[in-house]
Amino acid sequence: MNQAFHSSNAFPLRPSACPGLLRIVPALDGGICRVKLQRGELSATQALAIADAIDEHASGIVDLTNRANLQLRGVKRGHENALIAALLGAALGPRDAAHAHADDVRNVMTSPAAGCDAHALYDTTALAAELLSLLQSDARCAALSPKFALLLDGGERLMMLDHPHDIWCSALHPRDHAEPMFALGLAGCPPVLEGHPAALAAVPASELVALTRALLHTFLDLAAPDHTRMRDLLAKQSVESVLARAERESGVRLLRGQSIQSWRREPADASRRFGAWQQRDAHRDKQRWHIGGQPALGRVNSATLRRLALLTKEQGATLRMTPWQSVLLTDIGTANLDATLQTLDALGLATTTDNPLTRVIACAGSTGCVKSLADTKADAVKLAARLPDNTRVHLSGCPRSCAAAQCAPFTMLAAQNGRYDLYHTHDPRESTGFGRLLARGLTIDEAADLLNASAAPPFDEPFDA
Ligand code: SF4
Repeated sequence: MNQAFHSSNAFPLRPSACPGLLRIVPALDGGICRVKLQRGELSATQALAIADAIDEHASGIVDLTNRANLQLRGVKRGHENALIAALLGAALGPRDAAHAHADDVRNVMTSPAAGCDAHALYDTTALAAELLSLLQSDARCAALSPKFALLLDGGERLMMLDHPHDIWCSALHPRDHAEPMFALGLAGCPPVLEGHPAALAAVPASELVALTRALLHTFLDLAAPDHTRMRDLLAKQSVESVLARAERESGVRLLRGQSIQSWRREPADASRRFGAWQQRDAHRDKQRWHIGGQPALGRVNSATLRRLALLTKEQGATLRMTPWQSVLLTDIGTANLDATLQTLDALGLATTTDNPLTRVIACAGSTGCVKSLADTKADAVKLAARLPDNTRVHLSGCPRSCAAAQCAPFTMLAAQNGRYDLYHTHDPRESTGFGRLLARGLTIDEAADLLNASAAPPFDEPFDA
């Protein structure tokens, strides 16, 4: 398969290099089919359908992505239509031809623990569904780049805050306002530390969808053909002019002022993706938990996916993918905690931060991608065996950096087979590129020596805060 495979004319698609459920793109190890999941959620029935479909039509391997989606690898030539039909039959992908562009719209990023995080300020579940429906139903949104991204943050403790988004909204504390409000920003992330770019304004939750529609239309009205992201537009137009136009179009009055400018988001805690955490819905006799585990390098096979589906079913749980390429089971009863954790452990999913494989990420590498100069997946496993505590590394086969949505504290960029250039940054949000070049052409052992020798501060904090 040298060219992207497009599903039948029943689902017309625009040209794009990005994989989707209906657009299977070629790779070294076969086709890649990307399945977008609303809020990262996958029902047990859907998980079983995917497990069966990848055994029959692909390599039996699924990568969990950093936008909480799934990427099915190794789709066999001639099996594309059958795979697509199996996925559509499991109610994955666009619901009909009229919504084919929904396959290209990014999911709205929320907390994987949305609706159950004990520290959330706002349950974003319904609002996220409305925003996604807007993106998928508004005919004008079909013109957005597939990379145009929205973040809806309910103030959960388990939240990915460092992926830059074209539009981001973050719940404000209810004690400070008469009605639920969201802080708002463009082309960036919610501010956590002093020095992070401040929120631009705040908007009532009841008017968030109307304002977002107006912001999307404003972007589409003003963006030049080569402007695919909000940052491109803001390089030419002032933020104020974009906001003012959206205000006029929507009739929504934004709240501005010192209290919004000085607002900082409570730090999140990415370690809550591991192990068991109490949910908010606690009655003493009905306490429930969310439990997380991370597969090595974000990859699972069909057998693991099948077992996760059965576990979800047995426990009456919900299975969600996370932007850390891990899984979260919600609504687990106290009586089933230990058994669930044991099952995840038995499946090889890390449920604590002790496992060094939880601190490395790697792209497909030379076994799956023709652009890769090294076998990043195998090298990441080797490196993990010698990785010092608190050190997190991204191995990338080329500068495209598919595995990381933002700069990692340490990046190893493949230079040739088995050799890497090592980069470091203290502030992934502020870095351009991969940060400062520390050394060129290192073997895995040389990189491990250097990482161990450096008096590394605890890089986890700024990276996930
Ligand atoms: S980062 Fe480069 S080498 Fe790795 S999967 Fe992406 S395109 Fe391929």
